[in-house]
Amino acid sequence: MTAAEWTALDARYVWHPYTQHATAPLPVPIVRADGARLHTADGRVLLDAISSWWVTLHGHCHPAIAAAIAEQSRTLEQVIFAGCTHEPAARLAAELVNVLPPGLTRVFFSDDGSTAVEVAVKAALQFWRNRGEHRPLIAAIEHAYHGDTFGAMSVSARGTFTEPFADRLWSVDRLPDPVDGDTVAALRALIDQRGTELGALIVEPLLLGAGGMRMWPEHTLRALAECCAKAHVLLIADEVLTGFGRTGPLFACARAGVAPDIICLSKGLTGGALPLGATVTTERVFEGFRSQDRRRTLFHGHSYTANPVACAAGRASLALLDADSARKREAIESAHREHMARLASHPRVRRTRVLGTVAALDLDGEDGYLSTVGGELAAFAIRNGVLLRPLGNVVYVLPPFCTTRDELAVIYGVIERFLDWR
Ligand SMILES: *Cc1c(COP(=O)(O)O)cnc(C)c1O
Repeated sequence: MTAAEWTALDARYVWHPYTQHATAPLPVPIVRADGARLHTADGRVLLDAISSWWVTLHGHCHPAIAAAIAEQSRTLEQVIFAGCTHEPAARLAAELVNVLPPGLTRVFFSDDGSTAVEVAVKAALQFWRNRGEHRPLIAAIEHAYHGDTFGAMSVSARGTFTEPFADRLWSVDRLPDPVDGDTVAALRALIDQRGTELGALIVEPLLLGAGGMRMWPEHTLRALAECCAKAHVLLIADEVLTGFGRTGPLFACARAGVAPDIICLSKGLTGGALPLGATVTTERVFEGFRSQDRRRTLFHGHSYTANPVACAAGRASLALLDADSARKREAIESAHREHMARLASHPRVRRTRVLGTVAALDLDGEDGYLSTVGGELAAFAIRNGVLLRPLGNVVYVLPPFCTTRDELAVIYGVIERFLDWR
């Protein structure tokens, strides 16, 4: 089938995510990928500067991950995970526990970041209920993004994405975000007032991703963790984006020396090859569910929980996060810093920031996700061989770890040309 034929089928039959079909440009037909490169149907190459929505870690079609997937799909492709188990899940769980911050020892698998968050929030709420303690409140942070299912939307900031459902979302205690406000003081005040009713605090450690790539300090994360520990409030770290080396060290919590009670993982968990989520808890949280009373069970699961092929991809990806990968991440961070230092003085750039392999800048002009400048830059970048997807006026570069200095220079060159041109 020709690309013209299958893109016509797409236009006729497919509903794309986060896409306003009345105004969006036609989707770019991609036929193949390798490393940081996407190959279009018309033979062009695009540099994937956003790791395909933040998932691709080592590069596209990594041979080790591809081989693990091929092998596993010929051996055991799927089996129910309630009442059955398998080697890829058991070994991935053990390997995750081995690299996670200390104390996180029980792995609950699911399908994606949103479900990893749903499981975390449900586990936190039911943990207190199982213990007979009335702690129904959840605290969350302004500008947070935790996913698109209803529980995940409830803990996310209210805004453009959640507006149509505003009256259906349960309320949370909202703390100011650490970039603009004093989150620690707000948490202390909340704990003073209602600390015995507060069940959990959920945060995106060090980086509010979809909320605008807002980076926040390690000492704030440590202070929040200390407040939680003192008041016996569970700390949920949503590392769906920051996990697996994105901020440099394997986890943002590790970077700050913080051990949460629950951590949410997805995106890079399989290196970006297959969907998989994991919610990892401490033994104490897990023990809160162990009981002769079956009502204390965590009644949650998905058809594909711990899919063996996805778990095999996860193991292969984890094995690739070695010293060589750490060096690549450091090289990306230092290249980010050089480019951002230059761009910081551009008259159209308001603010720049770098955290590990993530770099972001705010363009002057209209703020917010619906600002049109992002779409203009994305279209300009596609014409010039780079895939970018700004969050409104926030432009970020979040490349796969295989991205070279030369490829980064191309990406930043395109951003710079757009700034000069428009
Ligand atoms: C992307 C993201 C999610 C949601 O993950 P999905 O796989 O898209 O459902 C949750 N939390 C954070 C921090 C994310 O960046």
